[in-house]
Amino acid sequence: MTTVVDRLNGGRTGFSVEFFPPRNDEEERILWRAVRELEPLDPAFVSVTYGAGGSSRDRTIRTTGRIAQETTLTPMAHLTAVDHSVAELRNVIGSYAAAGVRNVLAVRGDPPGDPTGPWVAHPKGLTYAEELVRLVRELGEFCVGVAAFPHGHPRSGDPEVDADHLVRKIDAGAGFAIAQLFLEPEHFLRLRDRMAARGCDVPLLPGVMPITTPKVLAKFGELAGVEIPRSLSDRLLPLADDPAAFRAAGVELVTGWCERLIAEGVPALHFYTLNRSRATREVVTSLGLDRRPVAQVGA
Ligand SMILES: Cc1cc2nc3c(=O)[nH]c(=O)nc-3n(C[C@H](O)[C@H](O)[C@H](O)COP(=O)(O)OP(=O)(O)OC[C@H]3O[C@@H](n4cnc5c(N)ncnc54)[C@H](O)[C@@H]3O)c2cc1C
Repeated sequence: MTTVVDRLNGGRTGFSVEFFPPRNDEEERILWRAVRELEPLDPAFVSVTYGAGGSSRDRTIRTTGRIAQETTLTPMAHLTAVDHSVAELRNVIGSYAAAGVRNVLAVRGDPPGDPTGPWVAHPKGLTYAEELVRLVRELGEFCVGVAAFPHGHPRSGDPEVDADHLVRKIDAGAGFAIAQLFLEPEHFLRLRDRMAARGCDVPLLPGVMPITTPKVLAKFGELAGVEIPRSLSDRLLPLADDPAAFRAAGVELVTGWCERLIAEGVPALHFYTLNRSRATREVVTSLGLDRRPVAQVGA
């Protein structure tokens, strides 16, 4: 089974995509359409997030398993420590292995209900993602990734301390990290510098989301964990009543950030797709990141 790290060592900048598990038949259909539309562009890997609650969690296992078995793509399943004992976590990790999924993004997760509320570990569970990395690595030949936060994790007042915690996750056995959204490439590059200053050189992927609507812009700020700066809202919000102009400006802006990151040598760009493929395909092809053999281009 190909690992994410193998795929990132391909020698050229690639891209990866993130989905969430579908909640019903309609969402399942939308997700699979996006998967099939992205497959010919040869993403380095595709990941599926892990939510709260049993049925959503089963759907992550099922979706990543289907990607492993029915597509040419390299799947990665996310896993969180939320509301799980260690015994349950072992079980989920075993289900991933049984479904043919060997890449796991080990994240702690947020408290269900109020993500900003106090974190309470399961009485027989884990407290930090670092422990989850160790557990997954102990249980088999898994390639493990972790989350990184260019603006610092919202619970951590100090980006330097947060970077120390990121290094601990890598030292615990993670082979790569994926960054949360950020508002300017410089924020990501500063995180990369903090990692380099700590002697940590595993692949660090910037998280990217094409800003296609005012709603996506709001979600962007929420995920990045910071206020949208005036420079960004002044550029996009005047176009809010013209969906085509807003979309074009948002996609162009994000494409410009991607160009800067590629010039800075990032191994791949990780796209948060919201289970739609069009905007990601537009950015990826305009940047020449699709890995289709020349003969297939235009097919
Ligand atoms: C790429 C990506 C994918 C994600 N996927 C999902 C998903 O599928 N499902 C989901 O629910 N959430 C997901 N999240 C969100 C994530 O679960 C939350 O942001 C969570 O709050 C932090 O997770 P973490 O793995 O970084 O936690 P941790 O690394 O455990 O960090 C949590 C906090 O504790 C601090 N800390 C870490 N280690 C230590 C230590 N040893 N001692 C003291 N303090 C420490 C950190 O600085 C931070 O403030 C994702 C985030 C990203 C960036």
